[in-house]
Amino acid sequence: MIETTKTYDFLVIGAGIAGASAAYELARGGASVLIAEMESHPGYHTTGRSAAIFTENYGNDVIRALTSASRAFFENPPDGFCEHPLLSPRGMLMVADKARLDQLELGELVTRVDADEITHRSPAVSPAFTAGGTWEEGASDIDVHALLQGFLKGFKKAGGLIATNAEIQSFSREDGCWQVATRAGNFSARTIVNAAGAWADQIAGLAGTKKVGLQPKRRTALTIDPGTSPASWPLTNCVDESWYFKPEAGDLMISPADETPSPPCDAQPDELDIGICIERIEAATTLKINRLVSKRAGLRSFVADKSMVCGYADDIDGFFWLAGQGGYGIQTSPAMARIAAALVRGHPIPAEISAFGVTAGQLAPGRSTL
Ligand SMILES: Cc1cc2nc3c(=O)[nH]c(=O)nc-3n(C[C@H](O)[C@H](O)[C@H](O)COP(=O)(O)OP(=O)(O)OC[C@H]3O[C@@H](n4cnc5c(N)ncnc54)[C@H](O)[C@@H]3O)c2cc1C
Repeated sequence: MIETTKTYDFLVIGAGIAGASAAYELARGGASVLIAEMESHPGYHTTGRSAAIFTENYGNDVIRALTSASRAFFENPPDGFCEHPLLSPRGMLMVADKARLDQLELGELVTRVDADEITHRSPAVSPAFTAGGTWEEGASDIDVHALLQGFLKGFKKAGGLIATNAEIQSFSREDGCWQVATRAGNFSARTIVNAAGAWADQIAGLAGTKKVGLQPKRRTALTIDPGTSPASWPLTNCVDESWYFKPEAGDLMISPADETPSPPCDAQPDELDIGICIERIEAATTLKINRLVSKRAGLRSFVADKSMVCGYADDIDGFFWLAGQGGYGIQTSPAMARIAAALVRGHPIPAEISAFGVTAGQLAPGRSTL
């Protein structure tokens, strides 16, 4: 039962992976927490549309550190968090044609592979396309549904509450607390946690604080029947990030890795992007695509330096940012949630996460690189 007369310690806006994971950590820390979600169920927007990959070889140095710092949680979640492992082996191939061989990034997480090994590991890649690549053994599939439900279940068990169909309409501040009007009723909280995904800058506008320059970018994901079981194929990426594919629920998910700027919305695939996707995949593989099994699109939201935004706004009291998860919000969520729960209470980043080199300044909403 959601009390409308109570003042909650935290009102978290958004029940995507960012809001759910942070709310989980806050509630387990003993705070009273209410999540306000505008849709009828959690995870409807970007979180429910991802490629569900964990790779430590992707994004800038901050993202890589946050991903590596999240591995321990994925591999050893708390007792009762989920019934099955959150990660399962997938592996990631980065492939290049002759002209792009020098774009391949080498490092301790990957090994160099030749064209024969690429077609052995990922048989759909056209031998005529590939000249070489790299292999990341540790890249894994994430069970995103189990992860999100694990956070939400743990959150509720710790006393947390979720109001759905509760789109935020306005904020006011009275006696040091936020009064928040939503479509599901009015709530009071000491601190707002803005985990509204693509809408986070709009929420800032409503609350009267500076925006962080968030840009949602649409990405398309289609599924096809490749004519054979792709279950053992790895995530296969082109080194210039012009396409990727990976097995998904018995079919093959294909994407043109598009990044089309979009306003916050219920993103839908665009016919042009679908055409581009099919053209690029057919050019680089032996696949012939006559029919789509499914199509979807989601918004990956970035600030200028492509790191997350996590910390208190400096021009207004009690307004905490947790936004800019970009294309890595699932794989970084365990570490980001713990960072958010520490910073929102004025504590330092937990030592086992800062050991990876993550600092509060790299994530601060007031940083100069935004
Ligand atoms: C095609 C694709 C592939 C991806 N692949 C990966 C991947 O392999 N690995 C990875 O880690 N990440 C991946 N991502 C990125 C990842 O999905 C996102 O970073 C992550 O889901 C963002 O989570 P979020 O909670 O910030 O946003 P969302 O899931 O969008 O959640 C925000 C929530 O806020 C709610 N909200 C917004 N405004 C209001 C309001 N006014 N009132 C109340 N509620 C509101 C929304 O309804 C929504 O539920 C991918 C994304 C896409 C689109």
